[in-house]
Formats: sequence, structure tokens, C-alpha cells
Amino acid sequence: MVIYPNLIDGQRVESAGRNSDINPSNTGDVVGEFARGSRKDLDDAIAAARQAFGKWSRSTPQERFDILDKAGTEILARKEELGRQLSREQGKPLADGIGEAGRAGYIFKFFAGEAVRLTGDKVESTRPGVDVEVTREPLGVVAAITPWNFPLAIPAWKIAPALACGNTVVFKPAELVPASPWAIVDIVQRAGLPPGVLNLVMGPGSVLGPALAGSADVDAVTFTGSQDVGPSVAAAAVAAGSRVQLEMGGKNPLIVVDDADLAIAVSIAVNGAFFQAGQRCTSSSRLIVTDGIHDRFVAAMIERIKKLVIDDALKPGIDIGPVVDAKQLEKNLSYVEIAKKEGGRLVCGGDRLTRDTDGFYMAPALFTETTNDMRINREEVFGPVAAVIRVKNYEEALAVANATPYGLSSGIATTSLKYANHFKRNSTSGLVMVNQPTAGLDYHVPFGGRKKSSYGPREQGSYAKDFYTIIKTAYTMA
Ligand code: NAD
Repeated sequence: MVIYPNLIDGQRVESAGRNSDINPSNTGDVVGEFARGSRKDLDDAIAAARQAFGKWSRSTPQERFDILDKAGTEILARKEELGRQLSREQGKPLADGIGEAGRAGYIFKFFAGEAVRLTGDKVESTRPGVDVEVTREPLGVVAAITPWNFPLAIPAWKIAPALACGNTVVFKPAELVPASPWAIVDIVQRAGLPPGVLNLVMGPGSVLGPALAGSADVDAVTFTGSQDVGPSVAAAAVAAGSRVQLEMGGKNPLIVVDDADLAIAVSIAVNGAFFQAGQRCTSSSRLIVTDGIHDRFVAAMIERIKKLVIDDALKPGIDIGPVVDAKQLEKNLSYVEIAKKEGGRLVCGGDRLTRDTDGFYMAPALFTETTNDMRINREEVFGPVAAVIRVKNYEEALAVANATPYGLSSGIATTSLKYANHFKRNSTSGLVMVNQPTAGLDYHVPFGGRKKSSYGPREQGSYAKDFYTIIKTAYTMA
């Protein structure tokens, strides 16, 4: 069995406790044993990052470009292997695992370029003889806390911009899926990063998370995870005087109006609701469908869902793998019961499946006859469970779509430019899709939500630098 230590100050640091990384498609298969870091490991990592900051913050854009670009090249060259490992430990289909590895590689390449594209402004003063310069500087030590559902891409879109902007990083990934984050750190380290610039501390989130988020020696905290945890991270960071950014869950709507192309509507609804076992923050779990197309849409959805192949993530030709662990499966099944009790009609799926291997397989569940005030339409399940809400017309659909505390992603299936444009302007989410699944995004443009889904500046694309740099305004009397 391979044992993976923490990576602190350029060293492999063993720990007393270990955490087994279990394959959710086949629970007899252990991917590896990973360090369970302690508070001391965390303190050492923060101290190493602080120590390394002085020199790294003065590194040239070219040095940062070279390291990030080299890391991106290695990730892309190994994307099949990294994607296979991701699918094995997380349960998403192999094609999605490889796709995510590729995405992580391109994110490193993109932010390599950003390192040499950081610019400021020279502004004319309101006073004679004075020059004003506005420049961006590195922040300091960045704490990155990530979830288990995109274990290569999310670490990449936090670590790469943090390093590109001259910061040092303490990275704490989710315990459940540690091999992919470990691989990312190993690759970036070997690409030439000086010791202490990037530190990996694996271990229990409930212990290490609050200590990291609330550390007075950390300058910024970037967190992706659940709404249950996010607000406490923000409170701890603010109390410590750190800058903070949160990306959290969603209860994303997909509107299907009468004039939609039925085949497109079904294809994007099935993809958005069920692919990757509904374990995407951008999954569409509320399907808001107008009267005229409702019955045809539901019938076509059931037909399509019944043909979905659910099996071992590494088997060729599957559509959906297992959910990530026993706890998530239990939660999904409990929401199926909750929805039934609230009066929803289960028209397909919703039960546990058995396959050749012992894994956490579940048949995608579709409910009809639900209303927006039911728990199934208000709370994030994070599983393959979707509910149809029947509405009279587009205007009612829009009102229902926006009537949620969340605001991450939203979509509409329509052939009408009028509805498409109106929806883009009036949806209260950070991401809006027209005839596209609510999940599945480009890596070079900003990503993030509104309302309870997000807090702070956007991640990804050129906008990421607004979080990872601090502005200085300098006045010079010529
Ligand atoms: P989670 O909130 O349980 O954990 C996220 C991270 O926080 C993990 O590293 C965990 O160890 C750590 N953590 C746990 N307790 C902590 C605490 N008290 N203080 C600080 N950190 C703590 O989320 P998860 O189950 O890993 O991931 C699923 C959630 O992530 C879903 O809600 C999903 O919508 C969300 N998500 C959001 C986005 C986005 O960009 N909006 C992307 C992916 C996932």
C-alpha cells in the first residue's frame, strides 16, 4: 500500500494518523493511505509559507511563468493517468476524470500567462506635477480549502492564480478524495517551486479547517465547499483580519418553456441533473417546466433516464458512476423519502443499485408534482435527485427560478431570443446558460455565484487576480 505524507516546506512529513482513500465503485479497493495532519503540521506549514513569502513575492514573472507552465505541461502529459486515479477515488466516469485532469493542466498554463500579464495603471493626478501609479502586489500567505467533487480542477484554480500573483499557499484538501490534490502539489513542487511556497496539509476538516481559516498568520482564505461550513470560515477569516472568498452550494434551476427543442431540453436536463451523480455545485436539481411541454418533457426524461448506464467509474461506456461514499448515499436516499412524504411523485429511480463490485450506486431519481417550497426544492442534496415544478408560463418560471436563497447557476431551454435575453438579464445567479447544461464551464472566464452561493470576488479567468493581489496607490511629485 502506498503511503502519502504531507508536503511541508519542501519535505515529506509523515504523521501518526492515516486516512484510507477508498474507491467508491469498489469499496474493497484502497487507493492509498494518506497522512492525517495535526495542528503542529498546520502551524509548521503556515510558518514555512510565511518564511518563503519574502523571496517568492519578489520572484520575477518569468520565474513564475516557467514553473506554472511546466506544471501544466506535466499535468497534460499525464492526464490519462491522473484522470484514472481521480475516477478511481471519486467515482466520476473515466472520461470526466480525464477531462478534469486536462482542465487542471490548462488552468496552470492560463495562470502561467497571467503571471506575465499583471499590469497596473498610471493615472494623471488632479494636482499639478504629481504622478499617480496604481499597482498590484502579492497578498502574502493564502489558505486554500477545497471539496472532494473536483479534486484536480478546484485545487488548480486556487493554487495556480495564488502562485502566479506571488503568494505562498497552505492547501488543505477534503479528506475523502486526497490522491488527486496530492498529485497536483507533487507536480507543482517538482516543477521548480522553492521550499515552503506551496504546502499540503491533509487531515480532518473540522480540526484543521477552523485553525487555518482563523490563523493570524494567514492573509487570505479561499474556500470551496458547503453552505454548512462556508459562513464559519468567513467569520474566522474576518476575525483574523484576512481577506476571504467562498464558493458554496446551489439549488440550480433549469427552465424548460413550451417552445424549447425537446431533445435539447432533455439532453441538458439529464446532463445537468444526473451526470457525475449530481455531485456538481452547478447541477440543476429544479426543473421548472411550463404547462404546454410538461407531459412530453417528463415522458421523454423517464425514457432517457431508464437508458442511463450506472456502473463502475472505470468501466467503458458508463454514463454515471457511484456517489462518493456511504454517507452521501444515505443522504440522497433520505431526501427521496422526504420528497415522497412532502407529496412529490417519484416517477423513476431513487433506489440503491447493486453491481458486480460493492459500491455506492444509486438510480437517478426524478420527482414530479413538486412545489418550490418543498425541502427537495430548497435544500442542496448533492446527489442524482431532481424535481419537476410545473408552471403556467415563462414569467412564473422565472419567478420560481429566482425564488431560492442560492444563486450559482441557472439555465433555460428555449428557441426564443426574447426569453433567452430576458432570462440572461433577470436571472439572479452568477452563471446563466441558454440551451446548455447548468454545469460544464470554460476555464478562462470568471466562475461564481450570488446570494448564499458565494461570498467575495470571482474565481478563475483574469478576474481571479482581484482576490490574489492587493492594490497600492503611489503618488510622486515629479
Ligand atoms: P464541505 O463544506 O464539507 O468541505 C469543504 C472543505 O472544508 C473540506 O476540505 C473540508 O475538510 C473542510 N472543512 C470541513 N469542516 C470545516 C470547518 N469547520 N472549517 C473549515 N473547513 C472545514 O464540502 P464537501 O462535502 O467537501 O463538498 C461539497 C460541497 O461543495 C457542496 O455543497 C457543493 O455545492 C460545494 N461546491 C461548491 C463549488 C463552487 O464553486 N460553488 C464547487 C464544488 C463544490
